[in-house]
Amino acid sequence: MEERQDPWSSSQIKDYQKMREEFGIDSFNYVLEDNLMARRSLFVGQRDFWRIREAIERKDKFAAMTGLMPSGEMHLGSKAIIEQMIYFQKKGAQVHISVADLESYATRNIPLEKARTIAIENFLLNYIAMGLKRCNFYFQSTNARVQKFAFILAREINFTEMRSIYGFDDSKRMLEINSPIIQASDILSPQIYDEPMPTIVPVGADQDPHLRLTRDISSRMNIIKSKTNGKSITFSIGGREDPEPYFNIIRDVIKDSGFEIGKINQKYRTAEVENFEGSTYDLDLKIARKERELNHINSIAPSSVIMRLETGIRGGKMSKSVPDSTISLNEEPDQAEKKIRRAVTGGRESVEEQKRLGGNPYICPVFELYLYHLSSTDIDLKNVEEECKSGTRLCGGCKIEASDLMSHFLSDLKEKRESSRHLVGEYLENGK
Ligand code: SF4
Repeated sequence: MEERQDPWSSSQIKDYQKMREEFGIDSFNYVLEDNLMARRSLFVGQRDFWRIREAIERKDKFAAMTGLMPSGEMHLGSKAIIEQMIYFQKKGAQVHISVADLESYATRNIPLEKARTIAIENFLLNYIAMGLKRCNFYFQSTNARVQKFAFILAREINFTEMRSIYGFDDSKRMLEINSPIIQASDILSPQIYDEPMPTIVPVGADQDPHLRLTRDISSRMNIIKSKTNGKSITFSIGGREDPEPYFNIIRDVIKDSGFEIGKINQKYRTAEVENFEGSTYDLDLKIARKERELNHINSIAPSSVIMRLETGIRGGKMSKSVPDSTISLNEEPDQAEKKIRRAVTGGRESVEEQKRLGGNPYICPVFELYLYHLSSTDIDLKNVEEECKSGTRLCGGCKIEASDLMSHFLSDLKEKRESSRHLVGEYLENGK
């Protein structure tokens, strides 16, 4: 049976290989030594990450985009996304963060003013405390450009497609159906209101449907589309307009780039470049930027890194809808300690058995705390893993160590939040 990726559900994804096959997601095979999540194999997939790697290597302009839903506390699962945003910001990305207050109103009935307070107190302050530098942090409800573009995008998608991606049934309210379209607008707006450029969207595996929708829409809005098989590229010209200006763009860019156009088929509106090897990064970008002179809503399809979902400490997905299983970044340290001590583990029935057979860190939510958050070095993590498997580490002591480390992390973050408060205005539109 198909395992649906549901952005609004608290259920965990069980089989990432199956997910990749079903939804056409590529494995993440890049070596990023300076990225903790990549080193620890916590990226379970990617879409067109090659574009971002090339943008970083060439020191080209690129954007990093994410959103937050202001409906409660920021928990450890969302921390991973912001760590990636900070990582890409350090690599040169222009960072855009959308507060999905229209979505929290649509799906959770949160009034806009309350959403604003939640976004600042529970999210933005933590982002600054974690090290995010100034960026484009905005609210969907006050961003007229994003709203206007969402209106234009709605022309590109019908209800059958929304149902197939999100599983919406006939009872779904229009507001909720509209939310993913506003998110697509969030993701594409940096390119629409600037110029086409690579864009990275770090997402949890459950959020990939938003990327599928946005990439589909992006492709539909481009008049010039390209396809490569590694040996040649075929450009096709969509739309119903006179194709000649678009053929001219293709001819000019191909010639400037030192290649030759082979066949041009006027009837099918295609042009082919034979004997093409290497990356299409330059051609895609040059063609998209030239096309922009004729088509004001074209874009480069956004890329993504897809993160493995963190398990809640009582099992299942770490989600704010299951508070007992979740640790929030604004949680009092002693409260978090209590939760960790009640966590389920991969330990054995008895101490004797665990000493003899060892525990299983790979099914243990406490081990995940070390993996995602608490072991700052790979050697520390390896020690926890090996001690667990060999039976020299027992769950009681392991939980105490994890809760001490978590308590220290939360206390430190709390101090940083308070000392960052005076910076909040710099991140908000008009300083308010
Ligand atoms: S020893 Fe630690 S890592 Fe191993 S199963 Fe127990 S709690 Fe989990």
